[in-house]
Amino acid sequence: MISQERLKEIARHWAVTETLRRGYACEPRLTAFPGGWVVWSPRQAGGPVPEPGSGETVIIDRDTGALTVVPGLPPQVAMSRYTGPGPAAQAAYPAMPLPTPPPGAVGTMPPPMPPLPPTTSVADPLSLTPGPPPPNAVVTSSPFGPPRLPADEQARRANALAAQLARLGGPATPALPQVVATLEVVGRTFQALGHTADTEPVHHPAVMRALAAIPPAGRTRGAHRHPDLIVVSKALFELGGAEHTDTAWAARQLAGATLRLHLLREGTASDNPAPAAACHTCGTVLVSLGLPGELPRDLVRPEPPQRNAVGRAALRSITAEAVAATIAVPGVRHRLPALPFLIDLLEPYAPFHPVLQSQPGAAQRVESFTLDEWTREQTADTLGDLAERLGAPLFPIGGEAGGLHSIIAVDERHRVFAVDHAGAWYLGPTLDDAVQTLLIGRSTPRVRATGTW
Ligand SMILES: [Zn+2]
Repeated sequence: MISQERLKEIARHWAVTETLRRGYACEPRLTAFPGGWVVWSPRQAGGPVPEPGSGETVIIDRDTGALTVVPGLPPQVAMSRYTGPGPAAQAAYPAMPLPTPPPGAVGTMPPPMPPLPPTTSVADPLSLTPGPPPPNAVVTSSPFGPPRLPADEQARRANALAAQLARLGGPATPALPQVVATLEVVGRTFQALGHTADTEPVHHPAVMRALAAIPPAGRTRGAHRHPDLIVVSKALFELGGAEHTDTAWAARQLAGATLRLHLLREGTASDNPAPAAACHTCGTVLVSLGLPGELPRDLVRPEPPQRNAVGRAALRSITAEAVAATIAVPGVRHRLPALPFLIDLLEPYAPFHPVLQSQPGAAQRVESFTLDEWTREQTADTLGDLAERLGAPLFPIGGEAGGLHSIIAVDERHRVFAVDHAGAWYLGPTLDDAVQTLLIGRSTPRVRATGTW
């Protein structure tokens, strides 16, 4: 018999796919019978009433967790005829979308019988007795979702990341994603994180001067909060105090210095973080202060590629599968929500292509971004923490490059945010509005600790 945990996971996954397919929130209900469970969800209040004989019944096998889709029969009838998963049964998880086999193609269903009277079985919403561990407690990965870590490894990495952030002087509630800057100069090592607090960071006058040389419309969002500038200020305060303000003096202090940036995201093994890139603004400031490197260049947005004539149904199906696979990856503390409008929201932007750009905008620099139906990385805890501040669940729909390393997310009210190593930013009240903001460089207010901006 499959375990209660496994059963809940299968029911949860079924509910996600049904929510995306039907377009309204589906709470999974389970009705037990000797062969397994029927999984179902109440109809939407005020929604259309299905024709008798239409629809389908989905059975979870008691021993294997395999799903059998039974078209056109009410649950009581389907349960009475069920003899086990046949060749047409679907892998229980992930299983998206659920195909509807043609009538008569369901594996081991015997020939039709007269309907039986309704049983006394009652809806039993997930209150099931615990069973032994699942027979195949394998870590399931999807080509759409991020690689799935075992829960204990995920918890171990989360603890190690929190400890590392605390050691580096991060806020009491460390936020991810984060970038660690390590500066080595004259035999000394300085480290800093991005500044996510509501206070403004204090920079060395030489850093302020180099930053002020870039017009506001050419500056990257939140650059003065980035750890590469903070660590250089820290070093300059230590090496010479605050009385020097000229960049030539700073360049002499920083001669021979090396700077490394590492990206810490949810699920990162803290002993093996990926290298991170400096943003356009930080890159410009660092080079003007004498650190090695080339001045970053602008990138004028090229013409977007032609949209392929992919069928709408195929796009919706692929998008739904990717969203379901993303939701299936839990965090240590949070889960991603199945927002019923996600497929309709994302479909106009599919298939997804990165928008490549880096140039001054209306109020701030525009940088490259991608809208996507999955992010190929874990985001449930990152977005769950932000959701607690905002009071609304969030789902990842893309990210920004150009040294921002952000996650773009939509909340249940369709509002769009970006979260990066300098904090969270409000991009707009709708996805269309947020995309315009990213394309023309409108200002993006920063979300404070109170969840307001
Ligand atoms: Zn930067």
